[in-house]
Amino acid sequence: MTTRDQAVREAVAQGVVGPRNHLAGLLDAAHIRRTAAALHTAFPGPGTLHTFAVKAAPLIPVLHLLAGAGIGCEVASPGELALARRAGVPPDRIVLDSPAKTTDELREALAHGIAVNADNRQELARLDRLTGEAPTTSPIGIRVNPQIGTGSIAALSTATETSKFGVALRDEGAREWLVGAFTERPWLTRLHAHVGSQGCPPPLMAEGVRAVYELAEEINRTVGRQQVRTLDIGGGLPVNFASDEVTPTFEEYARLLAATVPGLFDGRYGVVTEFGRSLLAKSGMVLARVEYTKSAGGRLIAVTHAGAQVATRTVFAPESWPLRVLAYDAQGRPKRGEPVPQTVAGPCCFAGDLIAVDRPLPPLEPGDHVALLDTGAYYFSNHFAYNSLPRPGVYGYASTEGHTRFVTVRAPQSLDELVAESGADHATELSALR
Ligand SMILES: *Cc1c(COP(=O)(O)O)cnc(C)c1O
Repeated sequence: MTTRDQAVREAVAQGVVGPRNHLAGLLDAAHIRRTAAALHTAFPGPGTLHTFAVKAAPLIPVLHLLAGAGIGCEVASPGELALARRAGVPPDRIVLDSPAKTTDELREALAHGIAVNADNRQELARLDRLTGEAPTTSPIGIRVNPQIGTGSIAALSTATETSKFGVALRDEGAREWLVGAFTERPWLTRLHAHVGSQGCPPPLMAEGVRAVYELAEEINRTVGRQQVRTLDIGGGLPVNFASDEVTPTFEEYARLLAATVPGLFDGRYGVVTEFGRSLLAKSGMVLARVEYTKSAGGRLIAVTHAGAQVATRTVFAPESWPLRVLAYDAQGRPKRGEPVPQTVAGPCCFAGDLIAVDRPLPPLEPGDHVALLDTGAYYFSNHFAYNSLPRPGVYGYASTEGHTRFVTVRAPQSLDELVAESGADHATELSALR
């Protein structure tokens, strides 16, 4: 039995998913550790800092586990920063990116020595003021957009001609401005680019890194010393959602980078990475009960408890975010039986709430389960409050011979919490307004 099948069987046997908890996220702790180890192996340089893009799985136990595996945090909001700190990630292993950092956020980051990548000229002007007000140990850099083109998912392509992120490197005068900005500010020591994400081919990502490296070389030549000491190459490595195979691997990406940008790893530059999806996606799944099965106009439909509230991107952009679905029976055993096309629907009250359409699966029945694979990244952060469906619980597991142990990563949202978040304390105020 595979680890995954055993986890599903035990999740059902132990009631992690059952008649009263119809939906849960599951994370394989050993798989996360193996993925983190693969990242370290691929980038062995002593000057390398790996961070995890918190938005991919904003779960304190996950950040804590990754911190134990030598991986810090890339944060983009006060909330994400609070999670990283609560997980015990030291400030010198946190990087703050975000196109909309407020002055207060910047001041706090600088006070704690957290690395900051300025997104734009106006933010740099704020940093001029703040670094003048109080000394800081924060490494500070500028994010550039190498403008190398679009991947296959436009909404996730960060390095297009007109992307909202960073200083657009190829715009008229931008390069000269950047070189000048560094020349005037000896405290600017980093350059950052995040080219991705899903749908962006690695050679395109490597071109983005090359552009940043060449800019660093130009700056350092101009100022006559190694002022830019660190290159933050972002995340963005795509994930294979079509099978269990990990492709591309961190190893392959590191080799591609070494071939495309030979100077990157020659020891002159520290390297920061910010992978999100590729670190967590394949360690997680969503497990949901089938409530009903029916047929409509010749289409077989399984109504499950996994829909847009947990698989938001898949439901709203199914071409970009197809998911593999596995069928399990009421005891959590892999379903046998000749696959027939079935539509896996969610519980939300809109017609498009579909996880998969006409997907060949063994015939599903009420009480069965479906597993949505490769959902460890972004599926536990992109919840959607439609129909007041609660955020599902997320559980971590570890399997030994014949036994699987579960721990809570995030408790399911309770009805009381849901009611409170929906304005319970203010129930009459609107009516009293005249
Ligand atoms: C989202 C994001 C990442 C992580 O992207 P993945 O595709 O999940 O690897 C890294 N850096 C920045 C700045 C981001 O916005």
